[in-house]
Amino acid sequence: MISLYIHIPFCIRKCLYCDFLSFPCSSDGLKNKYIDALCNEIELTEVEDRLVGSIFIGGGTPTTLDPDQIGRILDKIREKFTLSIAIEITLECNPGTTSPENLIQLYRIGINRLSIGLQSSIDSELEALGRIHKYSDFVNTFKWAREAGFENINVDLMSALPGQSLENYKNTLTNVVKMNPEHVSAYSLIVEENTVFGGIYGDDKSVIEKLDDGILAKYKNLPLPDEDTEREMYYLTEEVLTEAGFHRYEISNYAKDGYECKHNKVYWTGGDYISFGIGASSYVKGVRYNNISNVNAYINEWNQGSRPRKDNIYCDITPLSDQDMMEEYMFVGLRLMEGISISGFYDKFGVAMRDVYGHVLEKLVSEGLIIVEEDILKLSKRGIDVSNLVLCEFLLDN
Ligand code: SF4
Repeated sequence: MISLYIHIPFCIRKCLYCDFLSFPCSSDGLKNKYIDALCNEIELTEVEDRLVGSIFIGGGTPTTLDPDQIGRILDKIREKFTLSIAIEITLECNPGTTSPENLIQLYRIGINRLSIGLQSSIDSELEALGRIHKYSDFVNTFKWAREAGFENINVDLMSALPGQSLENYKNTLTNVVKMNPEHVSAYSLIVEENTVFGGIYGDDKSVIEKLDDGILAKYKNLPLPDEDTEREMYYLTEEVLTEAGFHRYEISNYAKDGYECKHNKVYWTGGDYISFGIGASSYVKGVRYNNISNVNAYINEWNQGSRPRKDNIYCDITPLSDQDMMEEYMFVGLRLMEGISISGFYDKFGVAMRDVYGHVLEKLVSEGLIIVEEDILKLSKRGIDVSNLVLCEFLLDN
């Protein structure tokens, strides 16, 4: 069984913190050519495993496409692959970019999980992030989605935002809980280089030079929350969501029973996935590779009428060594609250986990950061709180 990811890079405008491969696009011509290229890539990619367990259409903002365009992509996938009976098909959807009619059509063409990028329910925080929507747009989108038939909805949230108080973050959590989604992803804002926030809050000088004084003055009055507040926000997330009946199944992801994201679990458990579209990263039979990220080159290569040469369409083709795979098994698998199987490690690599990680395991167990329960190794509550530090211990070149 394999999973598929489809990358749609188009947005309405660029958010100030965003370093995803996305850009503003209002040209139907470019969108159609991109979809032609995507369909050709799907048709011409050589695959062995054709049974698909999950599809994730992400971006960017996939809902800047109309449902017919998304339907073309799904039709092509159905032509080439066999979809499992229990398939999960997720579409990322940003408030302010869809309508009741579009959501009805998206549901009819087979999308059965919607992931809505709310980020915050406070309009001034959304504005500070450079998002195009207001909270009311999210409320409308959510209601329209329910009316259209969607019974599996994720809401994306962010904390540690410019000027954000603990009280405001609590309001956002409470507002989300009231809407009663099936799943919530909650991440802290990360200040990335080459973004406007990288200039304002980081030390990316190349960005600062391009910013006008008005912007710099505005954000001076919107400091990022300090470390203690950020930590309190982190604890509050679990407290409010657990109270509301969600269970935490991954460090930053919460679900109602039966609604864990199947697609993301494939990433966290080392499963195979093929990704289509610019910059998309695939992992098949121990080899990782990325698609080229230039949109015009991607379109030209895939729309030329025959299968392009590999070096024109892929970059960073990396066969993972056993060491890479062991690190991933530990580093990524431990993000899941259910933990990882100790005997599974032996079955996969032919060597006992304690022979590779004995000293690290001993140290982390004695510090109370990981727990061993029969065949399962998992993070303790304290280990989850400092997960970044704990997980780095499993990198073998440390
Ligand atoms: S909507 Fe998402 S992908 Fe698009 S610019 Fe904003 S954060 Fe980036």
